[in-house]
Amino acid sequence: MSSSVDPTSIAIAVHGGAFAIPPGEYEAHRLGCRKALERGREVLLDGGSALDAVEAAVRALEDDGSFDAGRGSFLDETGTVSLDAGIMDGATLKTGSIAAGIGIRNAVTVARRVLESPHAVIVGEGARLFAERTGCDVCDPAEMVHPRELARWQAAGGGGGGPNWASQLFGDTVGAVALDAQGNLAAATSTGGSPGKPRGRVGDSPFVGAGLFADNRSAATSTTGHGERIIPLVWAKAVADLVERGHAAPQAATMGLTMLDRLDAKGGIIVLDRQGNVGVAWNTPAMAFAAWPAGVGGARPEIKDGPRA
Ligand code: ASP
Repeated sequence: MSSSVDPTSIAIAVHGGAFAIPPGEYEAHRLGCRKALERGREVLLDGGSALDAVEAAVRALEDDGSFDAGRGSFLDETGTVSLDAGIMDGATLKTGSIAAGIGIRNAVTVARRVLESPHAVIVGEGARLFAERTGCDVCDPAEMVHPRELARWQAAGGGGGGPNWASQLFGDTVGAVALDAQGNLAAATSTGGSPGKPRGRVGDSPFVGAGLFADNRSAATSTTGHGERIIPLVWAKAVADLVERGHAAPQAATMGLTMLDRLDAKGGIIVLDRQGNVGVAWNTPAMAFAAWPAGVGGARPEIKDGPRA
């Protein structure tokens, strides 16, 4: 660990989705978020960038298996895991996203490679080709099917039908926001989307402005919830704009919930401002998250975590 990084100058928050988390899964979701938070914080304490930290934290959530991302993802109507992810650097406004990626282990890392390329978004079969070409971990798509999700898919009758769209509560998408010692912000979001989704369906998560946003002039945000309603609200950017207009992250997150009312959308958001304040807000029964705001540098610092009912 680098001693040159002031531990009180960095901040990070992660989430594991906002929905009707079954109480029996609270502990796994809380633990998964805590581990991811620690992973991202280690990166920041080592002098890594906010971009490195959000990638590392989201990779941990993708690998956890408890969440609708990476190896825990819901299956689409064909019984396949199809991944969407986005990442954004608040210092340069560079972005990278993939959508409907199949046979990819860590969608956020492929998104990071896209960010480092001349492109912004790569989808479908092209996302896997791009992942291979840039040295990311690819696999047989069957390897991404979690037994828990196969059972869920089979119990739902297999094939299409999708979630209960009327209830709008279906996802444990993951995300992270970070502030590094240089004062730069970054955000990332990753998901398997909604259960039983149509082949090729893409929600808000990989879309800059809807599923994530980061700008050193405002804030870093990562959202979760009903993608079809979050997209038209351009929710991640709209909430970051509140910070630019002078609201601290906690206030902006709470104010952001009222934006969802217009479309009767359900979801949650994490917000981090440049002072290292963290805001978390949701209008679903629960949200899984963990946050380490700036100003907390002790050996056993406070970690605020969820899910909360
Ligand atoms: N926003 C995601 C989607 O619509 C789902 C979620 O957040 O869980 O694909």
